[in-house]
Amino acid sequence: MKKSIVILSGGLDSTVCMSVAHSKGYELYPITFSYGQRHSREVEQAKKVAKYYSCARHLILDIGFFREIGASALTSQEIEVPTNRHIDDEIPLTYVPFRNAVFLSMAVGYAEAIGAEKIYIGVNALDYSGYPDCRPQFIKAFQEAVNLGSAAPQKGCPIAIETPLLSLTKAEIVKLGVKNGAPLHLTTSCYNGGEKACGICDSCQLRLKGFKEAGVEDPIDYEDYQQK
Ligand SMILES: [Zn+2]
Repeated sequence: MKKSIVILSGGLDSTVCMSVAHSKGYELYPITFSYGQRHSREVEQAKKVAKYYSCARHLILDIGFFREIGASALTSQEIEVPTNRHIDDEIPLTYVPFRNAVFLSMAVGYAEAIGAEKIYIGVNALDYSGYPDCRPQFIKAFQEAVNLGSAAPQKGCPIAIETPLLSLTKAEIVKLGVKNGAPLHLTTSCYNGGEKACGICDSCQLRLKGFKEAGVEDPIDYEDYQQK
């Protein structure tokens, strides 16, 4: 069976990505990073998603790097997570410095080691929060770096980065997840990571909007749920 790495955060997008890889018949090797997020809830949800798909191995990596360097509302206690923010083109405080490049680099190493031919990552260029490392140009450039810097192509098993959500709206991502039977009830998207999702951070706002536009009821609980 052909193998695929999935960068799995336990959020909506990465779980839908997982469902896409599953629908294509890949043996799934999810990789989850505990990188100093404000809470451990994401990692717990990722474990449930991996279990749902009966993955042979779920690699969970504790990398203290982002915790050490801070400079993001997601990893530093000194920066508040913005709420009810007007989402625009500015790079938000929740941007983690060059995070996707670090995650992808590790995923490429893992793919080489186990002979996986794909790496699925749930980056999204439309309804995204303004993160530069989610842009299509970045993914394209990174793919070139993988082709040049990994041993996989010479061994006859090149590694392709797959971004099935890249040009989808949040509503389309929700619909795709429903179509693929993704366990959306196991996902969390909230930056605040409480028992219930906050409903007001950027990530909750985008998620709620997506479900509403898709005409699908969001199966998770919210603290401050308002029809937006
Ligand atoms: Zn939230």
